[in-house]
Amino acid sequence: MKGKNYYIIIFIISIIGLSIVQYQYLRVGLNLAEVQFNQKMGLAVNEIIDGLQQPNELTFLVGKAITSDDSFFKLSMDSVQDASSYFLNDFLKDKLLHQGIKIDFTYTIYTKDTINYLRSPVTFNDDEDLLRYPISLEGYLSDLVDKRLTLELQFKNLNKYFLSQLNGLTIPSILFLIAITFIIIWVLKSFYWQKQLITITNEFINNLTHELKTPVFSIGVASKILQERTIDENKELVNLIRSQVEKLKIQIDKVLELASIESKKDLINKNIIDFKPVVLTIIKEFEQLAKMENIDFVSEVRGEEFFLNCEPYHLENAILSLLENAKKYSKGNIKIIFLVHKTNHKLIISVKDNGIGISDENKKKIFDKYYRVSSGDIHDVKGYGLGLNYVKRIVKLHKGKITVKSTPTQGSEFIISLPLISNAKK
Ligand code: ADP
Repeated sequence: MKGKNYYIIIFIISIIGLSIVQYQYLRVGLNLAEVQFNQKMGLAVNEIIDGLQQPNELTFLVGKAITSDDSFFKLSMDSVQDASSYFLNDFLKDKLLHQGIKIDFTYTIYTKDTINYLRSPVTFNDDEDLLRYPISLEGYLSDLVDKRLTLELQFKNLNKYFLSQLNGLTIPSILFLIAITFIIIWVLKSFYWQKQLITITNEFINNLTHELKTPVFSIGVASKILQERTIDENKELVNLIRSQVEKLKIQIDKVLELASIESKKDLINKNIIDFKPVVLTIIKEFEQLAKMENIDFVSEVRGEEFFLNCEPYHLENAILSLLENAKKYSKGNIKIIFLVHKTNHKLIISVKDNGIGISDENKKKIFDKYYRVSSGDIHDVKGYGLGLNYVKRIVKLHKGKITVKSTPTQGSEFIISLPLISNAKK
């Protein structure tokens, strides 16, 4: 679950980061659009000044309107003003369009003493946030009224206009961001769904194999007793049962080992429990087996409670694998010593035998997957070379360590140390 949270946090940070970057790009884009707009406005203003400086049809009409001189027309003054206002509007629109500025605008012609001479046919509300471009009109029109005239262009919603210019960038980036978010959410969802499925499957395999182990173990012990007491006639049948039970035992171990061997850290479900009862069960089970096989099995458990954050099935199986190995790789009068005690907030589990031992060279390799010592006569011992690799993985998943001390022909000692939970809820 921890891993899931990390991925989600990284994903959220990335999406927020990407959005901030996009926003910054948008701001840069808006600034650039504004600079470009001002450049175009500069050119348009020059054209407007040129067009309104000299006497021509338009300036003549506007001149009549601003001097309220209707002598030339047989029309009312209002009509003259309306007409010139429309003509001037078209003229300005044309000049702006010529520079590629396609935006709603209004205008006013006024003097310094705030006399408004002419307004555009349609005007914006005064309370609207307007951007104003004052253009000083020199020449013909100013001379007519003998005052400095100003033509002011007003624009509103410039940001909306700039944004519309950037639509080719903003809309695709928002769409891509949304698409990436959806796809990542979908991938994460299916990834965790699959992971959950693997965890459930693994838990099922663990439970099933564990449940199978006890009856198989009992059948093994019972058939061994039967083997010694049975009459010759049935011996063959009992031998068959024993060999099949042995095979079944190996298969169960293999399934349990393989189930964990490919799994990742968080697929093992750990809980804080007192491991001592599990240790006592292991001893009880192994004692029975040792008795049947004439093995000198000595065990000692020191300490009250062994609180561990562990997955008991796997840990139990790992310890049993070490005990099985001690039995498998020993000959003659087998002696196995099983010691469990606490030191420095650690639980120490030691399995010692007087078996064939392991050479220094092999000590480094025995924990590798599929590695089996091939020298000598140990090929009569069945195995897949998975046991110790499994034990090491399980110990590692419990944040513990496994070490081996061994002298060839003298025997071996495998020592597991696991961190104890000192403040466990009891
Ligand atoms: P397997 O027992 O299936 O071969 P393991 O991974 O359990 O696989 O062991 C790997 C090898 O380590 C074995 O083949 C054996 O040679 C060696 N080994 C393991 N335990 C012992 C032991 N207690 N004494 C001597 N050799 C051992």
